[in-house]
Amino acid sequence: MTSKLFLRPALALISVLSTSKATLLNPDKNFPLNKLLRWTVYNHFCAGTNSKEVSKTVADVKKIGYQGVILGYSKEIVLDHNEKLVVDESGSAKYSDRCYEMVEEWKNGTLETLRMVGPGDFLAVKLTGAGPIAVDAMAARQPMPEAMAKAVDEICIATEKQGSRLWLDAEQQVLQKGLDNWALETMREHNKAENPIVYNTIQAYLKGSNANLDRHLTLAAEEGWTLGIKLVRGAYIEHETRSLIHDTQKDTDQSYDLIADTLLCRRMPADNDTLPFPKAALFLATHNAASAAKAISTYQERLLANKPTITLECGQIQGMADELSCQLVQNYERALEQSSAANLTVPKAFKCMTWGSVAECMGYLHRRAIENRGAVERTQHMVTALRRELWRRIIG
Ligand SMILES: Cc1cc2nc3c(=O)[nH]c(=O)nc-3n(C[C@H](O)[C@H](O)[C@H](O)COP(=O)(O)OP(=O)(O)OC[C@H]3O[C@@H](n4cnc5c(N)ncnc54)[C@H](O)[C@@H]3O)c2cc1C
Repeated sequence: MTSKLFLRPALALISVLSTSKATLLNPDKNFPLNKLLRWTVYNHFCAGTNSKEVSKTVADVKKIGYQGVILGYSKEIVLDHNEKLVVDESGSAKYSDRCYEMVEEWKNGTLETLRMVGPGDFLAVKLTGAGPIAVDAMAARQPMPEAMAKAVDEICIATEKQGSRLWLDAEQQVLQKGLDNWALETMREHNKAENPIVYNTIQAYLKGSNANLDRHLTLAAEEGWTLGIKLVRGAYIEHETRSLIHDTQKDTDQSYDLIADTLLCRRMPADNDTLPFPKAALFLATHNAASAAKAISTYQERLLANKPTITLECGQIQGMADELSCQLVQNYERALEQSSAANLTVPKAFKCMTWGSVAECMGYLHRRAIENRGAVERTQHMVTALRRELWRRIIG
């Protein structure tokens, strides 16, 4: 991965494999290709193809010391365009039965994923996976269609019953405004206890992210529900209207750190600062060690000075930024040796993973590779560390 010479053709190959309809290029039908992909990328980045494999991966990750996992289902249900609409007796077009079946299949896949994680873990929910009924309404910024509302409700209730949490993955801007409205509606409905069940995602690379946070804080404070925020930088820079995104990486970094600081220091927006800060929790989803260090040190300083803050948890994607994840695990374990769990001033560390057959995960793998190309190219230090460890084992 450190070699640009190999990385480019490898990305091109994964791109072909994730879109091709040829049987020979389908890893679920071509056994040697399946094996090759498992050895090279799948096993490194994905949790498994079925419940048994996923449970083992989750148990292994927890054995290393992670406090929990976040699990998502990679299957993307693809609808043939001709199947989408049918014409009823009055001559008007409506969604076909197949579209409603897709919502049901998505709900069942999400509930199956939920059963693979335990109390305290997160379920990663991709609302667009439910197909055209969800995507069209989201894009038009309409309220959640009834079929979706019922499915989401069922998923939230099952998540709460199991003692787990869920987060809603953020999408591109054409969908995100609608998705934010749905997320607010879902948090209003289900985040009634001290700790949130549902988290929405804020993308700090957007120029409007701070205003979006203000909106979330104000509504939670006015209406009295608990706010759950997963903070990311944003994954769609290559496909998004560029003017919506901060002009430089430095601006995105500042925006990310400011949003984390606002939440950890419990600052209400200036024009609503008479409202009390709502109950809230922050999940810091990043591979950026500097951002993680800043947020954690603010969190610790406030706890040690007996100043109020909010619950902080951190997580990275499986197969990525292991050096940061392992440092977080180590800090947590050290702190636990010196103090009781109730008095800890370090956040819990999580690993975020996806499951599905090798073919189902190709799209996910391709997106992750593109999105993290910069980080992948900065992995020279990992090769050096691996070479050193290999040598230590040979001579030791
Ligand atoms: C657990 C987890 C869950 C995630 N879930 C989601 C999700 O639901 N939705 C989503 O969109 N993303 C998601 N991501 C991906 C995330 O948005 C980032 O793409 C990825 O984590 C890389 O950013 P980073 O914070 O790790 O830091 P870095 O690798 O230091 O930062 C890279 C990021 O900086 C930004 N950036 C890069 N160049 C520029 C530039 N020239 N100008 C402005 N900004 C720039 C981009 O956002 C880029 O992704 C998730 C990441 C993690 C770890």
